[in-house]
Amino acid sequence: MRSIGDGVKRKKDLFIPISRAPYLFCQVLAASMEDKDYYRILGVSRDASEEEIKRSYRRIAMQYHPDRNPGDKDAEEKFKLASEAYEVLRDPEKRRIYDHYGIEGLKGTGFTGFRGFDDIFSAFGDIFEDFFGFGTTYSRRRTRARPGADLRYDLTISFYDAAFGKDTEIEIPKTVSCEVCNGTGAKPGTQPTTCPACRGTGQVTRSQGFFTISTTCGHCRGEGRVISHPCKECRGVGKVKTKRKIQLKIPPGVDTGSKLRIRGEGEEGERGGPPGDLFVFLYVEPHDFFSRDGDDIVCQVPIAFTQAALGAEIEVPTLNGKRTLTIPRGTETGDVFKIKGEGFPRLKGSGRGDQVVQVIVKTPKNLTKRQEEILREFEEISMKKEKEGEGWKRFFRAEK
Ligand SMILES: [Zn+2]
Ligand SMILES: [Zn+2]
Repeated sequence: MRSIGDGVKRKKDLFIPISRAPYLFCQVLAASMEDKDYYRILGVSRDASEEEIKRSYRRIAMQYHPDRNPGDKDAEEKFKLASEAYEVLRDPEKRRIYDHYGIEGLKGTGFTGFRGFDDIFSAFGDIFEDFFGFGTTYSRRRTRARPGADLRYDLTISFYDAAFGKDTEIEIPKTVSCEVCNGTGAKPGTQPTTCPACRGTGQVTRSQGFFTISTTCGHCRGEGRVISHPCKECRGVGKVKTKRKIQLKIPPGVDTGSKLRIRGEGEEGERGGPPGDLFVFLYVEPHDFFSRDGDDIVCQVPIAFTQAALGAEIEVPTLNGKRTLTIPRGTETGDVFKIKGEGFPRLKGSGRGDQVVQVIVKTPKNLTKRQEEILREFEEISMKKEKEGEGWKRFFRAEK
C-alpha cells in the first residue's frame, strides 16, 4: 500500500544537526524561500519531538526578534519564516498534513502563513510570554499607518423634523494636521532630529538575564525623533483643533437612537492611515400632542358625551394639517380610530404608518340651568328605558 505522501521526495541529506543549525541558517534561508522546508528552517530533524521544535524555534525567535533587530529586513524575514514553520510543526494535525502533502496540502486547510509581525504576535503572544517570561514589547508605532478615530456627535431634532426629514448643518470639533508645519511639529525651516536616547528606534533596551527587554523610549515617547524648535501654531504637536462644518441630510422617519454615518469625517488617520467616520446620534424631542409607536403617530382627542352618543364629525390635527374623522354613534371613551397614512414614513420599506386617535369622552361640568333641566329629563327617560331593558330585569331577578 502506498499513501499519497509516499510520492513526496524526502531527502535525508537536507537534515541539519541541531548543533550546526545557527551556522547553516543563513544559507538554508535562501533556498527555503522556494521550497520552504519547515524542518530545515527550524534546524530540526523530521522526527523531532514537540519539545525539540519548540526549543529550536525559541532560539531562532530570540535571535531574530524584531525588538533586538529594529529595522533589519533580513532578521525580519528569518523571524517570519521561523514563525511560519513553528506555526505548522507545533500543531500535530498541520504537521501531519505538511509531512504528507507539503505546503500545497496546507493551503487546502486555509493556512496562509503570516502577513506580518502583528499576525505572529497575536498568534504566539502567550508562547513568547512562556519563552521569555514576559509579553513582547514589540511595537511598530513609529511606522504603522493608523486609521483615524471615529467621532460621535449628538443631535437633537424636533418631532416634525423626524417625520419630514431635514437638511441641516452641524459644526464638529476636529483635530487636523497643522498646516503651518505640515504636521511635522517642527518650526518651518527646521527639521525634527533623531532622538539621541534611542537613536531613532523609539525603543530602549535593557538586559534582563540573557534576554533583552525593550521599552518605549521616554525621551521621545517612542516617536524616534525630537523637535528642538517646535512649530508655534501647534506647539510641536503637529495637529491643531479646528471646527468643521458638515452638511447633514436627515431622512424622514428617523427616531431617537437612529444613527447617521458620514464616512471619512472622523479624525484624520496617522501616517497615511484612512480617516475615521463621523456618527451622528439622533434624539427626537417629545411632542406635546403626538407620541410615536413605531411608524404610527398616537394622539388622544377629547369629545363631548353628546358627540359620543349621537356620533359626530370631528377635526383632528395631523402632521399634515387637520383631518376630518367620523365618530360613530355610541362611541365610548378609549375607543381607537385610525387615520390611514398620516404616520411616519417607513425608514425601511415604503409607505407611511397611520395616525391612531384615541377618543376621551368628556363629562360636562358647570351646567347652565337649562342644560341641567334637559339632562334631568333625559335621565328620567333613560332610566325608565333601561329598567324595561333586559339588563335591569336580570338585575332585579338577582336581587330577590
Ligand atoms: Zn527616543
Ligand atoms: Zn505646526
